[in-house]
Amino acid sequence: MAEVLRFTCRECGQEHEGLPDVGFKVPWYYETLPDKHRVDLYLDSDFCRIENDFFIRGSLEIPITGMQRNFSYGVWMSVSEKNYHLYQACFDSDVPTSERYVGYISNRIDGYPDTLKLIGAAHVRGNGLRPFIVLQSTDHPLSIEQRKGISFERAVEIAIPYMHEKSFPSRRA
Ligand SMILES: [Zn+2]
Repeated sequence: MAEVLRFTCRECGQEHEGLPDVGFKVPWYYETLPDKHRVDLYLDSDFCRIENDFFIRGSLEIPITGMQRNFSYGVWMSVSEKNYHLYQACFDSDVPTSERYVGYISNRIDGYPDTLKLIGAAHVRGNGLRPFIVLQSTDHPLSIEQRKGISFERAVEIAIPYMHEKSFPSRRA
């Protein structure tokens, strides 16, 4: 049976049901481009190219202790041009694949020491699922959380600002 997650929100005082995944619509490098008209760009919900830099979107999942579901950050990762095109080729295919692309996290996630350029591996899943990203095992708090998991209370703390879009208008996916 699916777990029903409910909690009373310290931000608005209401009871929320369910936890949103926290997603970034664009890589940090896209968000911070000073003049997008002057740059050769491609962007959709899963692929981004800025001149000769290539990015794909994946799910960085963090286990929630004692629960069946994970908390998920939808983040972008830089990949090589070759892997970008390999991923494009298998994106719509339902042929099982075990491709794995190493790259750098390309978003700054609030509440952590800078997450930009953390090293991760994107594991392609196929079947319309975004790749899951496994961070290199380091002492960075995000890497520790991914290895050890977080409490439900911690997941709520992370999610609350993103549930109130006014604070982060550009970040909800
Ligand atoms: Zn609320």
